[in-house]
Amino acid sequence: MIARITSILIFAMFVTGCVTTNEVTGRSQFITIPASQDEALGLQALNEVKDSNDHVQTSGAMVEKVRRIGQRIVKVSDNPSLNWEFIVIDEPVLNAWALPGGKVAVYSKMIENLTEAELAAVLGHECAHAILRHGAEQVSRSQVQQLAVVGLGAAAGLATEDEKTASLAVALGSLAAQGFVALPHSRDMELEADHVGTIYMAKAGYDPRNAVALWKKMSGLKEGGGSQPTFLSTHPSDGKRIERLESRMTEYLGYYKP
Ligand SMILES: [Zn+2]
Repeated sequence: MIARITSILIFAMFVTGCVTTNEVTGRSQFITIPASQDEALGLQALNEVKDSNDHVQTSGAMVEKVRRIGQRIVKVSDNPSLNWEFIVIDEPVLNAWALPGGKVAVYSKMIENLTEAELAAVLGHECAHAILRHGAEQVSRSQVQQLAVVGLGAAAGLATEDEKTASLAVALGSLAAQGFVALPHSRDMELEADHVGTIYMAKAGYDPRNAVALWKKMSGLKEGGGSQPTFLSTHPSDGKRIERLESRMTEYLGYYKP
């Protein structure tokens, strides 16, 4: 019985102890991973990508371009001091992603199809994901879902002590290692990254109307068939994103100094 109560208490402490207010957005976020671990976790995940994918580029013309635009964004962002790293994955995929600690990847098909300002919109969006800690937040949400299952099992007395310990370890460990790239961001996180990312691109000297141009172009590329446009994800729809961006364009243009 004491073990059961302890399990429930640990679960409750775990859940309630991790709500922080994001300094950039003012939104409450549930994150179980301390910010001090972002760098190590992001670097570990990045190294796993580099080790397992022969198409990763860390030098050359495409990387130089992405790095140059990325650094312009980072300089005016809310967290220039992260250990930023930009890589290119030379694959015919319309995608880009960001890892905790500021590790950003752009696929070559994006670079080939977008103008510099549209690429700045992509990089603004990805840098915003990293700064707003969306990867850690997504992994934390998944951990809670797993822990809830473990906790309920424990409360009902269904699991032995060994089973509980084992599944708790799995719940905490496995997602942190793989989740950052694999787990899709929620709809709200996507819209938040669009918003903050467009402010960054405008502050960096890129006309923010190119963020709208980017989503329109991505829609067109999607309709044209070809490879899966994973950057669009399934939510929110590009129509929704465009509508949101257009409704706040006056604000974004206020940050834009050509
Ligand atoms: Zn995104």
